[in-house]
Amino acid sequence: MGDAMQHRHAVVTGGGSGIGLAIAQALHKAGCQVTILGRSREKLDKALETLPNAQGFTCDVTDEIAVNAVFSKLQNIAILVNNAGAVETQPFQKTDDAHWRRTLDVNLMGTVNCTRACLDQLKQQSQGRIINIASTAALKGYPYVSAYVAAKHAVLGFTRALALELANTDITVNALCPGYTDTEIVEHAISTISAKTGRSSDDARASLTKANPQGRLITSEEVANATIWLISDGARSITGQAIAIAGGEVM
Ligand code: NAD
Repeated sequence: MGDAMQHRHAVVTGGGSGIGLAIAQALHKAGCQVTILGRSREKLDKALETLPNAQGFTCDVTDEIAVNAVFSKLQNIAILVNNAGAVETQPFQKTDDAHWRRTLDVNLMGTVNCTRACLDQLKQQSQGRIINIASTAALKGYPYVSAYVAAKHAVLGFTRALALELANTDITVNALCPGYTDTEIVEHAISTISAKTGRSSDDARASLTKANPQGRLITSEEVANATIWLISDGARSITGQAIAIAGGEVM
């Protein structure tokens, strides 16, 4: 990474676990000043043990007032990683309004709320970066997760529109689109498949890994590596992109 992005203030939402924690750790290693946001103080504190001198704030990204209150305490933000997200599995006909609103709120509105809360700060920095952790579900459909697929497609639409709107500034906006990645979300999906189908967890895992032509789960570190590339000086012309990290899965 070029010096320009070192010592920059980077905020990672949902930074207490999984992909968010791996990104926070990679940014920290790259020399950024890191702030993680999440709902659970306990999870944040555990994550902070691996991030000396970083800070963590509890914040539900769906709560616009809470988001604004936290971001008003932060200064000189140059990098925002909108990573907080959640998925619930249901056949479409069993989904209700509450399911759709929960899913859109966390995946889409969480991204919108946090971006709006710090865009003025990003504009003050040279080479601001917004990185939205979308999914291959932003690029193609998957059954039984219609609300999540719709929400992640919306995150990508937002990414593309905002990239154009900010093209005359020093800020880039991109979406990373991982395939199934080795985190709690996927462990939960494997247990759900096993419980609903009676298949063994090895079988359930295989049904997910077969989506990836490389036949494995993506690692959180691979998503973190792509983040580090996107914050580099050399990536300043990369904006409005959906970057799949999915072992060649066809979109
Ligand atoms: P995870 O469950 O470990 O991480 C999600 C994080 O977001 C958690 O720390 C959770 O507490 C936090 N979060 C959830 N709702 C929140 C809210 N309302 N406010 C603040 N924080 C909230 O799972 P992960 O796999 O690390 O997921 C991270 C991101 O990557 C998500 O956006 C997810 O959709 C996306 N993603 C995951 C996969 C995968 O297979 N694991 C694949 C593609 C994309």
